[in-house]
Amino acid sequence: MKRLFFTRTNLFLLISIVILQGCASLNLASKKSNIIETYIDLNAVDNDQLVVSLNPGSFPKGEVTFYMPSVIPGTYEYTDFGRFVSNFKAFDKNNQLIDVVKEGKNTWKIAEGKKLDRVSYVIDDTFDSPEGKKIYPMGGTKIEKDEVFLLNLHGFVGYFKGGKEWSYRVTIDSPADLVPFSSLESVSHTATQDVFLAGRYFNIIDDPILYTNDDSISFSLEDIEVNLAVYSPTGAHKAADFKETIETMMQAQKRFLGDANATKSYDILLLLMSMEELQQFGGVQGALEHHTSTTVVFYEGIDTESLKEYLVDVVSHEFFHTLTPLNVHSEQIHYFNYNEGIMSQHLWMYEGTTEYFANLFQVQQELIDENDFYGRMSDKISSAKRYDDTMPFTVMSTNIVEEPYQSNYQNVYYKGALINMCLDIIIREQSGGARGFLDVMQALAKKYGVDTPFTDDKLFDEIIAMTYPEVGDFIKTYIQGETPIPYTEFLEKAGVTISETDQELPSIIMVAPQQPFIAPQPNEAGTRDLVVTGLNNRLSEIGFQEGDLLRVFNGEEIPALTQENMGALNNLFGTSFGWTADQEVTFEVERAGTPVTLSGTVGVAITPAKGISAMENATPAQMALRNVWLHGKEE
Ligand SMILES: [Zn+2]
Repeated sequence: MKRLFFTRTNLFLLISIVILQGCASLNLASKKSNIIETYIDLNAVDNDQLVVSLNPGSFPKGEVTFYMPSVIPGTYEYTDFGRFVSNFKAFDKNNQLIDVVKEGKNTWKIAEGKKLDRVSYVIDDTFDSPEGKKIYPMGGTKIEKDEVFLLNLHGFVGYFKGGKEWSYRVTIDSPADLVPFSSLESVSHTATQDVFLAGRYFNIIDDPILYTNDDSISFSLEDIEVNLAVYSPTGAHKAADFKETIETMMQAQKRFLGDANATKSYDILLLLMSMEELQQFGGVQGALEHHTSTTVVFYEGIDTESLKEYLVDVVSHEFFHTLTPLNVHSEQIHYFNYNEGIMSQHLWMYEGTTEYFANLFQVQQELIDENDFYGRMSDKISSAKRYDDTMPFTVMSTNIVEEPYQSNYQNVYYKGALINMCLDIIIREQSGGARGFLDVMQALAKKYGVDTPFTDDKLFDEIIAMTYPEVGDFIKTYIQGETPIPYTEFLEKAGVTISETDQELPSIIMVAPQQPFIAPQPNEAGTRDLVVTGLNNRLSEIGFQEGDLLRVFNGEEIPALTQENMGALNNLFGTSFGWTADQEVTFEVERAGTPVTLSGTVGVAITPAKGISAMENATPAQMALRNVWLHGKEE
């Protein structure tokens, strides 16, 4: 998964958060060959809800338990899809209701399993239900009659106890002008009905379906057929806009990966969402990985050029997940427990290696230059500072579904990637440039692959045996240990140094990349004021002081800080992201009870940051290591 925050909406989020305050065993052998007949009619939408029916064939005896999944691979949090189920019914062969008892959030029990013929229930979607805002949009569900259906099937289809390995025949009736895009095996297709086959419950989760108007492109990546399908609510973006960018990027990925990817096809399902939906998810957008596809959800209002950058960032990350966890994963992932968060200790690899390679391949394949790469790693060092640097990554990983670990999750994209950068440099150094961490991952993918998991607590020993004692020291001290990584020490091996620099902020109203200069605070009148809580160089020069109450923002009065006004406030502050340096701006603040007018030009707002750059006096050995690390060759 790759989770991003859309900065303008993150501002909204920062402000709005403060304002709103069984036991009976089944005879499974006799059910082995059964197929669960699954039916969904996309024409029968009522209030953004759909009816799902499942006919599992006959159960010989005892109690039958039905689950909706609680945890989905790749998301590392409880999602509890049971909360979107209502009106759960069980029927016998004469179409008469039989008793069902709901237990907990995701479990239904039918005592007289022998009588059971089928179950049906109503599913609400995550894109506009109050509970849905807690689910990442890329793992969520969208039901919009005659327009679009995002069928992350784990949000629709559950499984029977003991039946995770049973097949599903999924029959979907649809409006004639909507077309399905999916990596799920198609049995038959007509304009109004599709039949898919999921080999086991795993495929229900691994092969999402997007029903939309037919806007797609495809291209071949040697022997991989890549498809991109796009849903854009206002038609602002077309699949063809992204073809060249995605094709160039994925060709470079394929060259970087070598033969470590044996996928036959790869589907990119891109759903663009409205501002209202983006706000529903608190500014979160991103993508979720699958073996042969990825679901990507972004805000539609992003301009095409920026959207291309986001896509390169996110789709390259997802495609590298075909290496890990998809081809290198532990038993916890392989025998995934969809109803208990039993986690592996190797998020440093599943997300960290993936994110690191998604940056490294771009410099190695010359999609970006060395300075761009250093800039990205500097940003990761800065961003990692917002999280607990003494929390061992392995401990965080094993406990990721619980606090305080869950709120450090985002660090897998920052420190997780940096861990891999250091390992890569160590292996390059020790091997005299001959090997990097990609070689280790390729060897692991070859040994294990899709069907064979490794043992969770044996992986480190295996990696150390394949490499050098220095790798073992690093793992023990910085991945399993509480010691923060001294990045300079590792970067210097490759003739790269860290110094203090100035980082340009995305807007004059930001004091750090993710932090606006104002925050709402309660006042004596029982309402809230927007108080200046931080300054940057330009805000100081214009005359702002900490503690000022913001009243007028560039000529527009600040509306009351209510939930209804959040959209207006967001738009008002959002305009600052488009201001030019020479633009004149005027504000009004209240300072010690007196109104004060402040004005000046926008200029360039900066914040001190750590900058990575090449050492000017690097030795030939350092330069050789740098070249082989970033370009795969010594010259
Ligand atoms: Zn990921």
